[in-house]
Amino acid sequence: NHESIKLNVNKMDVAFPNQLFINGEFVNSVSESSMECVNPSNESVICSVQMASSDDVDIAALAAEKAFEGEWSKLSARDRGNLMFKLADLMEQHKEELATIESLDSGAVYTLALKTHIGMSIDTWRYFAGWCDKILGSTIPIAHARPNSNFTFTKREPIGVCGLITPWNYPLMMLSWKMAPCLAAGNTVVMKPSEVSPLTALKLAELSVKAGFPKGVINILPGTGAETGEAISQHLKIRKVGFTGSTVTGMKIMKAASESNLKKVSLELGGKSPLIIFDDYNLDKAVRMSMGGVFFNKGENCISAGRIFVDSNIYDAFLEKVVTEVKKIVVGDPFNRSVSHGPQNHKAHLDKLIKYSETAQNEGAKLLIGGKRLDRPGYYFEPTVFADVEDHMFIAKEEAFGPIMAISKFSSSDIDAVIRRANNTEYGLASGVFTSDINKALYFIDRIDSGTVFVNTYNKTDVAAPFGGFKQSGFGKDLGPDAINEYLKTKCVTMEY
Ligand code: NAD
Repeated sequence: NHESIKLNVNKMDVAFPNQLFINGEFVNSVSESSMECVNPSNESVICSVQMASSDDVDIAALAAEKAFEGEWSKLSARDRGNLMFKLADLMEQHKEELATIESLDSGAVYTLALKTHIGMSIDTWRYFAGWCDKILGSTIPIAHARPNSNFTFTKREPIGVCGLITPWNYPLMMLSWKMAPCLAAGNTVVMKPSEVSPLTALKLAELSVKAGFPKGVINILPGTGAETGEAISQHLKIRKVGFTGSTVTGMKIMKAASESNLKKVSLELGGKSPLIIFDDYNLDKAVRMSMGGVFFNKGENCISAGRIFVDSNIYDAFLEKVVTEVKKIVVGDPFNRSVSHGPQNHKAHLDKLIKYSETAQNEGAKLLIGGKRLDRPGYYFEPTVFADVEDHMFIAKEEAFGPIMAISKFSSSDIDAVIRRANNTEYGLASGVFTSDINKALYFIDRIDSGTVFVNTYNKTDVAAPFGGFKQSGFGKDLGPDAINEYLKTKCVTMEY
């Protein structure tokens, strides 16, 4: 029983809550503060959403603790999984509505939102629902003065109340990548979606009530990083923070964790992922996949190929073909079926891209196409290509997180040199190589310092495969069996008989 925002978007009726979700209820923030959600395709206000204060985080953490100590822990692992399957089924039943809300709030093209943002979220819930009753310990033959008189075994236990903090690029999917393994492991959650795209998270809260999750297991608190996010990372009852976002924020979260209660932390952070294209690979395929590597989800993709190194033998041909392809990208209203590229998520991000592009030009990178805001309402930025990018330039070092391709040349006579350049970054999220030579591919795989490696493909992420970075791209994994481990602690028991 709660108020909903009801809208008709693209001939579809959608409804979603705009309050905080705490202890199974939709409530206003104690501070009554709210923020406007803006439609990035026309800059109109969609609705206002309550923003959680630190007092709200406190109330939610207590509710999550009570649920953890009570009903949630009493549920069998299989029943926990069944609830998650039920939620996934409800998401499936509401997938068009969820995709519509996601497009409206984030600017993602509707068909992509349906397939990726929502489709992969549903997949994630199902994958981890299946894990609930497969979390196993082990028995260990310890050395001891009296052999065969000891029994040593491990139990994998949930951590308790977990704080989850996510970004705006795939709002529901980023939430799902964290919340599904976290709940599957038996924890309860206080979750903060990004303040700029919180609507599908609140819709999920509504569906979780329908699915029958006990009160307090899931708490969803939109709010700012400075207030809600910090309150979560400092909270003494929260024993783990799972975070996806920028490296700068990741560092703040680790600091807060170390200064509060030494909570466990896992961090999925930024990237500047290199993609190396050798002349022995099919050029048209390389162009097509590089386009996806950079422009997928209008570049708002953490594993976006931020640096493209092209073999000097095919450099000019590659540039020509890429520019031809970029001209075919149809930018516009995310609900228009002929559009493949929507607006950037929010105004501050658009402004960042404009500045980024200006800096690249000032530093001497060669602008081949795009480079500026579209002359129309909405946060539209032209798909952009820079060539002759040099390693010392800002564009070669810093993440754009937008539709900007940065191309450099390399010589295939020195494969070590290009791998050294690829590794010459503080990030280590993803990387790619296109070559038809298996030896080159294997050489690259062994030497590249990134958590995800693609060979002759790009962006292929699957819920069953671990995902996460090295170096300042963070630590810990989302997805795959590894993700469950991020939300468990191991208890080792030794008995003597
Ligand atoms: P961000 O770090 O600004 O914000 C991410 C989240 O952290 C938001 O919910 C924000 O409100 C919150 N936050 C901000 N300051 C905080 C603080 N001091 N304490 C606690 N929480 C705080 O990042 P963003 O702009 O939302 O997202 C873009 C970044 O996310 C990019 O760097 C991108 O590469 C990264 N990202 C990484 C992955 C991955 O899997 N590695 C996936 C998606 C996005």
